[in-house]
Amino acid sequence: MTNETECAACNDSQCSAQSKKPGEQDAEFIERQAIAARMCRIKHKLVVLSGKGGVGKSTVAVNLAVALSMAGKKVGLLDVDIHGPSIPKLLNIEGAKVEGTEASIFPVKAGKNLSVMSIGLLLHGKDEAVIWRGPRKYGAIKQFIKDVEWDDLDYLIIDSPPGTGDEPLSVVQLIEQLDGAIIVTTPQEVAVQDVRRSIMFCRELNLPVVGVIENMSGFICPNCKEKINIFTAGGGESMAKDMSVPFLGTIPIDPQVVTAGDTGKPVIQAQPHSETSMAFGRVVRSLLDPEIKAAQEQYLVKPSGATTKIAVPVAQGAMCLHFGHCEQFAVFEIDLESKTIQDKKMLTPPPHEPGAYPKWLNQQGAKVIISGGMGSRAQSLFTDNNIQVIVGAQPGDPEKVVQEYLDGNLQTGSNICDH
Ligand code: ADP
Repeated sequence: MTNETECAACNDSQCSAQSKKPGEQDAEFIERQAIAARMCRIKHKLVVLSGKGGVGKSTVAVNLAVALSMAGKKVGLLDVDIHGPSIPKLLNIEGAKVEGTEASIFPVKAGKNLSVMSIGLLLHGKDEAVIWRGPRKYGAIKQFIKDVEWDDLDYLIIDSPPGTGDEPLSVVQLIEQLDGAIIVTTPQEVAVQDVRRSIMFCRELNLPVVGVIENMSGFICPNCKEKINIFTAGGGESMAKDMSVPFLGTIPIDPQVVTAGDTGKPVIQAQPHSETSMAFGRVVRSLLDPEIKAAQEQYLVKPSGATTKIAVPVAQGAMCLHFGHCEQFAVFEIDLESKTIQDKKMLTPPPHEPGAYPKWLNQQGAKVIISGGMGSRAQSLFTDNNIQVIVGAQPGDPEKVVQEYLDGNLQTGSNICDH
């Protein structure tokens, strides 16, 4: 498709697509192919998510990776937590020299069957990533995922940035062949509410939830070894039941976990017979055990009758390139099981001002917006309103665009308007 056609349609002289050369819009596609080629050497790819920071997501990711490697599996651990890459410290590989070529970065060995790559090993200063903004962060995450050259692996455990914003979204969208997500929470109600959002996030992205782990659940008394529930307990488990996702187990609050983190030897190695290590062991067994896996499968199927809504900006009957220039939104109701359109409504939005469309579309129940182009600020506003953004779609019949998206055939090029 020529940029001239696009630019005539959007009539925006500042649109960045006008300066694009032919073929440039395929770069994203080529990069995705490169990521897919790296990932096809790995049997199972699991992302570790949490509703917010500080719940022990990295601790869980490290202990699961080490436990799987101790069980004889070839494991990679990828730390994409761009603002808090703590894996190097947890495994005592801070300052490790990263070898690479122009096109590849080689993971660092952290045990017989364990190789690790952390974005923290590549940052020049601890605060470097903090000042990066949306597109720069996305670019860094994408390049990082694309360039790490893994050997053939049984498992890749990915420590994602926390929350349900742009960063975990980038990770999930870039690694399209993920097996599923492990969600870490703490037992308190506030954390449990965050984790509900994480489960919804996975559902919207069609990412199976492998299970929920309740970390910092009860305290093991170092003297009598009895478990004391300092805060509430069981919130994660009842929430998992409530939301029909598997529960993988509880990990207690254990001062040894902190010491192990500080010394760079995960608790499962430092204290393999402790209550906490046994709890990690149970979680790993549930990941490896084919019978438990089969039981999990039933949870991974979406409940029948579940629906979602997809919005498409429309001008003169066709999907328009700039969502901000649209006359109406076509809002489609989708049956998730059959991936078919059940209903379509043409809705007129309120006057256009920053944040108005995301809020209004959220009120209409939209979970996804498909658009030609959208600036990064607008994308964040949609994400904040729990609406996933698909950009780079070509203009056309909105119904056709949505069906192609549902069939996995939607061709997306570059974001034709990134200002
Ligand atoms: P996140 O990745 O979610 O930000 P971390 O894994 O970095 O969280 O853990 C945050 C802090 O909590 C760390 O100091 C870690 O040692 C501590 N921690 C994590 N899990 C436990 C636990 N089960 N018992 C005691 N401390 C824990």
